[in-house]
Parts: sequence; structure tokens; C-alpha cells
Amino acid sequence: MDKDVFRCVECNEKATELHRDYSNGILKLSICDSCQKPVDKYIEYDPVIILIDALLCKTQAFRHILFNTSLNIHWKLCVFCLLCEAYLRWSQLHGSEQSSDPADIIRYTKEWEFYGMFGLALLELSAYCGGVLWFVWLVVGRLQGGTVELSLFIRALLLSCYGKVLLIPAVIWEHDYSPLCLGLIKLFVLTSNSQAIRVTLNSSRRLSLLAVGFGLLTETCVARACNELPWSIQDAMSL
Ligand SMILES: [Zn+2]
Repeated sequence: MDKDVFRCVECNEKATELHRDYSNGILKLSICDSCQKPVDKYIEYDPVIILIDALLCKTQAFRHILFNTSLNIHWKLCVFCLLCEAYLRWSQLHGSEQSSDPADIIRYTKEWEFYGMFGLALLELSAYCGGVLWFVWLVVGRLQGGTVELSLFIRALLLSCYGKVLLIPAVIWEHDYSPLCLGLIKLFVLTSNSQAIRVTLNSSRRLSLLAVGFGLLTETCVARACNELPWSIQDAMSL
């Protein structure tokens, strides 16, 4: 194993190991040289506890997942979240249409509308990630003279979008409070993103919030452009 590949979940200091094996079957958590606390207390925790701490947006849990585990499901998770979002948009597109006309039913079942929504969701996610990356590159890379590890940053950003899977139960159990639920899910995902950026860059809360805000602005501009330009994708789908 490379030197200094782990991070202390408490103070973000680099560490060479998470536990020490004393050959006679005794394992002990490594202690951080900087803060004198266990480097990663989560390695002996149940995954459910780690998930609860991640849901509570605790920086320690984010550091454990991003630096001290090899969880590499971010691309799969990203595709799954995009499918959830495409399903939500697709169901909203047809939610108000109650028709028994066979032609409408055939149109309703056209798969390409779903994939069109998937494409739109992908475009908006790309715009969001692009906006966040550009802002971080500008502030951290150019103004502060730091470096941004791209693969780690993308992994953190995509993994922290896990809250989008909640869109599926929100759509399935549709009720009067669905718009409120969707708003809360969006807020939760943005909070998680902000925390992931803060942990990855070891930056201030203000910088991570600004990065998320800039990403959101870029995403909104792209979404508006898709809706309003003459070659609007949604217009094309309604033809
Ligand atoms: Zn420490």
C-alpha cells in the first residue's frame, strides 16, 4: 500500500494505516499523530451507522467514505439516479393526461420519450457538474494556487447525489405533499454535494456553498435554454 493514502476522519491529516495488527490476533485502531484520536473510528462501525451519519452530513462519515474506502459505484449510482429523475419527469409529463384514446395510449408507451427525459437529465447534471468544477478550478486552482484531484472530486460529487434515489418512492406514493417532498430531496442532494466538496477540498463552508450555487445556476440556465430555444428537445418530442 502507498504511503499516506488514508486520512484522519477527525482532522483530515494524512495517515499510513487505519489499524495496526499486533501479530497475536490483536488489532488496534491507529491513532492520529495530529489530533490524538483514532484515524478512522468508522472501520469498526456497522454500515447502517455509517449511512445514518452520512445522511446527517457528518464530515467524518464523508471523509471515511471518500478517503478510506474504495467505494467505486459512483458511475453506476449516477446512471441509476438519472433513471430515477427521467422517470419522475416522464411521469410528470403524462401525469395530467387522462385519455382513453388508443392513439394516446400508444404515444404514452413510446420509450423514446423516457430516453429523451434521460438525455435532458444527463445534460442538466453535466451542466451542474461542469459549473461546480469550473468554479472550483477558478477559485482553488487559479486564485488560491491549489490543486484539484479531478477523479476524486467527480467521485465525491456523484456519490453525494445518492439522495436522488428517494425520487422513486416520492413518485410512487404520490400525494398532495409531493412537490414539497421533491423540493426537500433537491435541498438534501445540494447539501450533500456541498459537504462532499468541502471534505474533498478541505475548504470553508462558504466556498462549497458558492460552488454548489454556481453549479445550480449553470444547470438552471441550460434547463431554460432547452425549454425555450426554437429547437427545444421537449418540442421535438411532442411532435
Ligand atoms: Zn487527526
